[in-house]
Amino acid sequence: MILVIPVFVPHAGCPHDCCFCNQKIISGSKTLPGESEIASKIEGFKEEAPRYDEVEIAFFGGSFTAIKPEDQEHYLKAAAPFLKKNGGFVDVIRISTRPDAIDNETVERLKKYSVKIVELGAQSMDENVLAMSERGHTANDTKAASKLLKENGFVLGLQTMTGLPGATEESDIRTAREIAKLGPDFVRIYPTIVVKNTKLCRDFEAGTYTPMSTEAAVRLCSKLCEIYDENGISVARIGLQSTDSITRDGSESEVRGGPYHEAFGQLVRSYDAACAMKDSLKEVTDKSGRPLSALTILTDPIYFSDALGQNRANAKSLKEEFGFARVNVLPQGIATEDVFRKRAGKLSNVKTVSVPTERYANRLAKVIRADVCTLSEPTGKETSREITEVILELEFKSLR
Ligand code: SF4
Repeated sequence: MILVIPVFVPHAGCPHDCCFCNQKIISGSKTLPGESEIASKIEGFKEEAPRYDEVEIAFFGGSFTAIKPEDQEHYLKAAAPFLKKNGGFVDVIRISTRPDAIDNETVERLKKYSVKIVELGAQSMDENVLAMSERGHTANDTKAASKLLKENGFVLGLQTMTGLPGATEESDIRTAREIAKLGPDFVRIYPTIVVKNTKLCRDFEAGTYTPMSTEAAVRLCSKLCEIYDENGISVARIGLQSTDSITRDGSESEVRGGPYHEAFGQLVRSYDAACAMKDSLKEVTDKSGRPLSALTILTDPIYFSDALGQNRANAKSLKEEFGFARVNVLPQGIATEDVFRKRAGKLSNVKTVSVPTERYANRLAKVIRADVCTLSEPTGKETSREITEVILELEFKSLR
């Protein structure tokens, strides 16, 4: 487990005005933090630090290397004493910045203060999308900065966005393929949301920008995760982190439109789980040739709600599509026989059906085993009825 100590660097350092950005809102911070403020914030995490495998100070939010060099030094100097090699309790310093704010001089400064992880806001590799979003940099800037950072031994993260002005599903998929070629150590995927007081918001209100629906963004992000996974690149986050100002309800919320959801990554995991389960269940119905009565999903307890879906959406659609009378989720590791003994049913026949896991190998969730059981279930009187129950074992990939 990693403890991330976030230090938000707001808009002040950024010379640009991307159409979707109101950094002061997104970062939840409106003023540039002072050196002592940063130091006391970091110090505040000292007690809980030993409970984690790794501790990171993260300068998030703005464009760190676009602020004045003396200000960069000011912040890095405040953080450096907390590094373990200087007697502190922090393992890593990380920053996020723009691709056109990386050059040799910057790289040397970051190395001097032992910054290890650099995240670049690539957003898109499509020139038209970058121009329409008023990013002020090109795809070549992202390629050059990524190369320089990798050559200098930094851990490279690339942030991307879906559904920007001018983007299509195809262009976002092409972006993911281009990003994968740059060999980042990890990526973040942010579906574009419409934030108050931005040019995008004005376009949205004028009807000249239409954001993606949440459902479409979930499906697209699932495909992008697949591309990154095929290329051995981990997806560190899907969807914007919530802050007080963007999660407030109604007119107080800073979000005016777009696929914002507090647990967007969970929506994608649930969608992948539903796809994997439906695919496996089609296989099961073909092979068993019997109507299915009940479904038991075995999964790691921390993924219970992902398996069931938000508001039990997966359970409801599986019931509708396959005619299950009930859907249960149980902790992984419980043997099939135990599941049934616990239910006081009488196990009569268990068959394992091979499931097409390879088709979903690169998704965030996959079915790794499917058992079809015929049970004699007591009815409460002397009679019993026979039911066909399916047990699916689901495995989830964790996001960092
Ligand atoms: S570069 Fe980053 S901080 Fe600057 S306006 Fe664009 S999104 Fe906002």
